[in-house]
Amino acid sequence: MPLHHRAHDAADATIAINPLYARPGETQTVPKLHLPQGELPPELAYQIVHDELMLDGNARLNLATFVTTWMEPQAQRLMDESLDKNVIDKDEYPQTAELERRCVHMLAGLWHAPGAHAGVGCSTTGSSEAAMLAGLALKWRWRQRRRAAGMPVDKPNLVMGINVQVCWEKFCRYWDVEPRYVPMEGERRHLTAETAVPLCDENTIGVVAVLGSTQDGSYEPVAAIAAALQQLVTSGGPDVPVHVDAASGGFIAPFIQPDLVWDFRIDRVVSINTSGHKYGLVYPGVGWVIWRDREALPEDLIFNVNYLGGSMPTFALNFSRSGANVIAQYYQLLRLGFEGYRRVQQACQDTALHLSAQIAKLGPFKLLTDGSDLPVFAFTVEPDAGYSVYDVSDALRKRGWQVPAYTLCANLESISVLRVVVRNGFSRDLADLLVDDLKREVSLLKHHAAAQQPHAERQRFHH
Ligand SMILES: *Cc1c(COP(=O)(O)O)cnc(C)c1O
Repeated sequence: MPLHHRAHDAADATIAINPLYARPGETQTVPKLHLPQGELPPELAYQIVHDELMLDGNARLNLATFVTTWMEPQAQRLMDESLDKNVIDKDEYPQTAELERRCVHMLAGLWHAPGAHAGVGCSTTGSSEAAMLAGLALKWRWRQRRRAAGMPVDKPNLVMGINVQVCWEKFCRYWDVEPRYVPMEGERRHLTAETAVPLCDENTIGVVAVLGSTQDGSYEPVAAIAAALQQLVTSGGPDVPVHVDAASGGFIAPFIQPDLVWDFRIDRVVSINTSGHKYGLVYPGVGWVIWRDREALPEDLIFNVNYLGGSMPTFALNFSRSGANVIAQYYQLLRLGFEGYRRVQQACQDTALHLSAQIAKLGPFKLLTDGSDLPVFAFTVEPDAGYSVYDVSDALRKRGWQVPAYTLCANLESISVLRVVVRNGFSRDLADLLVDDLKREVSLLKHHAAAQQPHAERQRFHH
């Protein structure tokens, strides 16, 4: 049974073929859950799959995802041309390997890895795989240090905010590391120096600081966390390294917040991951992980593959994957350069700030963030509005907008929010259309809430 089985499909369910697609006498249905016995003409198979996918949402109106939904036709053409290249076949596709190497170099430079040839890293399928690799490196290094000191290695832990993306929970579960989460409290919705340090001990493999919380788009104070950890060492405590999960921020901060110090400029930051397929502006699946130097990446995690008769080091969970996304990442870096990325990200931020300001003015909403860190913001509905964030999310869905509503993490589970992610392609025009729709839906919701009010009052009275 697939993980996401759909209980309502009978085992013999079929897909009816549009009569115009199949010639008379040809199959009129195809099985849904069984491998069909015979073949279909390619055009017919294409139509069936194409039509099914119409039910997926409109990616441009999806304000829920961080992931790229538009690339230039030239990028798309390069991807089409290179879908058949296996990124692991360094020997057969040395130039794809070369482009990956150049991307690693550019990112290491962008994030200020020390020294001209410093910064080692690789591409991954996304930030989740990157997190697994970075987490493993932290765990291996901690274990080496402990073993060298003759100390037990059976109880590693990782310190982070409860707001971390699920990949860190996965990392801890899959690789037997105790997760130590700092809960949210009051106005604090992410990790801070004061809250991280008390959870660290000799078994802490690292602290994960998130540059761009998925919960509300806010940046965690990486420099302050690192400074507090430095003090911990000075006062005789354990020496705990920092990994920065910059899944989104890794491609935002260098361009529009260049003075924010969050990267390898901080000595304690040993590794950084990012999602090429988020603000890196590439279609899903590509991510990156960079270590500050060779020392940060234990040798025995690295495997060697054939490379032009020699061998090339690799570090990955999977073996085969298409080189198309890596090639597309190189295209974007080359095509946009620093100034191009800056313009794209600044436009996103301008739109986010404009949109959040308009939403704040509508009345029933309160901003938790405004888009001044990531171009992402979260807002709540005032408790006395008579309707909830879920009602607002449903109402917007009528017009095709996908704006997710969810509750914050412990200890703020009682707060429900809506979140907007502004990505490349979400224009000022679209933002204004969203505000118009919000205005109309809010006045309808208000009207409905008022109509229900006397009824609710009566019920309360009877009870
Ligand atoms: C999206 C995200 C991830 C997971 O990234 P994928 O590339 O989707 O695997 C991890 N951490 C943060 C902060 C994210 O925003």
